[in-house]
Amino acid sequence: MRVVVIGSGIVGASAAYYLSGRGAAVTVVDGGYHGEATQAGAGIVCPWVDHPEDDAWYRLTREGARHYPELVEELGEDIGYAKVGALLVAEDPADLEPVRALLRRRYPGAPEMGDVTDVAAPAELFPPLSDTLSALLVPGAARVDGCSVRDALLRAAVARGAEVRTGAATLTADGQVYVYALADPPRSQNAPAETPPQADAGTSPAQAGSGTSPAQAAEGERSRPAAPSQGERGVSGATTSWRQATPLPPTSPPPPTGTTPPTAGAPREGAPPLPTSPTPLPQGATASPQGPTPPADVTSSNATTPPPAIAPPPATGAARRFDREGVRIDADMVIVAAGAWTGEVCRPLGVELPVFPRRGQIVHATLEGVDTAWWPIVLPSAGPYLLGFPDSRVVIGATVEDVGFAPRVTMGGLAEVIEAGLRIAPGLFGATVTEARVGLRPVYAPGHALIGPVTDRVVVATGLSAYGLTAGPFTGEIAAALALGEEPPLDITPYAPPTGA
Ligand SMILES: Cc1cc2nc3c(=O)[nH]c(=O)nc-3n(C[C@H](O)[C@H](O)[C@H](O)COP(=O)(O)OP(=O)(O)OC[C@H]3O[C@@H](n4cnc5c(N)ncnc54)[C@H](O)[C@@H]3O)c2cc1C
Repeated sequence: MRVVVIGSGIVGASAAYYLSGRGAAVTVVDGGYHGEATQAGAGIVCPWVDHPEDDAWYRLTREGARHYPELVEELGEDIGYAKVGALLVAEDPADLEPVRALLRRRYPGAPEMGDVTDVAAPAELFPPLSDTLSALLVPGAARVDGCSVRDALLRAAVARGAEVRTGAATLTADGQVYVYALADPPRSQNAPAETPPQADAGTSPAQAGSGTSPAQAAEGERSRPAAPSQGERGVSGATTSWRQATPLPPTSPPPPTGTTPPTAGAPREGAPPLPTSPTPLPQGATASPQGPTPPADVTSSNATTPPPAIAPPPATGAARRFDREGVRIDADMVIVAAGAWTGEVCRPLGVELPVFPRRGQIVHATLEGVDTAWWPIVLPSAGPYLLGFPDSRVVIGATVEDVGFAPRVTMGGLAEVIEAGLRIAPGLFGATVTEARVGLRPVYAPGHALIGPVTDRVVVATGLSAYGLTAGPFTGEIAAALALGEEPPLDITPYAPPTGA
């Protein structure tokens, strides 16, 4: 079976990995859109403290976390995965009681979280922390490097015969895939052996990407109150969610762009509004970065019908230029794992999937000469999370902003993260800021993940929001099974796309 996977973030890379492992002929296409969530993701894998009243979310993230040790072994390379434990910290010890009760309730179904214990002096485990904090330690929590996972999955998929192409993919109404070459380079050359869309089937790649991505780490996640539809609650109350409960204390005025309604057609900063449906063109219309283009059916040797007129992929979030005409890639099935862009990719199918981007800005800092590799994750009841990584690195994150497709690092965002980070960990005052990253979490407006078929040949897998590094590899496995017509490893009913979307 031939399967095209659109998007090579952690979900698409995983789908390619599992598909190729089951004998499918896989082509992965990624446009390298700025704002890919996976490269910015913090890397916290600690599902037991969240979604207290949402069993469907919890099951997906719990199974995602459970999936990791096996995956690490299978991949056989360092993906930055380490069970470093998580410190749940609070100024007032009473604030730890709800999460203690939640963990107690969940322990029988998830003993892998380990025995939760009180920690009298959390700064002994994470030295920069304020010494006024109380804490619980969840020893089973892990951190992972999202970029390393994605790259390792892609490498393994390629080793099994998958092809990786650089380009922007678009769908026709009947689910055919066309790929457009990009005039500007992708975000990173993360795939081992990328192949750009070719003007002629069988010609050698003219602009093959090469090499692997720079070692880009990914870490942690903290959210402002989610969209109401996500059902997150505040910290008070016995079943409250720990991590999602509270926003970072505001240190700056809200972004001028305001709050984006959680819809696929949400206004975006710095980009023109997207068409709500592809613009049909007469045959023979010319290609243009600004306008729709009918693709030349140049790759397919078995295409017998004239190609439908379709629009090039929308220039979402960043102006993109398309050098050439679209190239069709034959496929029996398509998996759309295009993160925050999934709604737009699927629009030509005649489905409206309200997937929207939720921006996260995150700071990486270095404490020269300090071994931070085994520091636990720090998850406060309020304020930012912190993680230690090898190379004396500490990650502090993250903002949660509904500002549309605007993957920019802002002064306000950095100030918010750094100021709040220093409040909880004043020992970071002298740390060197080495990097700021930004990513667009893919959020499905109804409030849960979105996994399942949207047509008889297109499966979507997205909406993992702040939990994509936790549940992404497992979600890719689910999507692969669905594309192959197999029983998925989890009941997908709660995540299935609405019928008649
Ligand atoms: C700051 C931050 C911190 C986070 N921390 C955590 C954490 O600690 N733990 C956790 O579990 N999760 C975390 N997350 C969430 C997690 O990173 C995301 O849920 C996850 O990475 C989403 O992966 P994805 O593959 O669905 O999407 P993405 O990683 O966004 O990948 C989508 C890909 O699709 C490509 N694409 C889109 N449209 C097209 C097209 N038309 N043609 C070709 N390619 C296309 C894009 O280029 C992109 O590479 C965090 C996220 C952020 C932003």
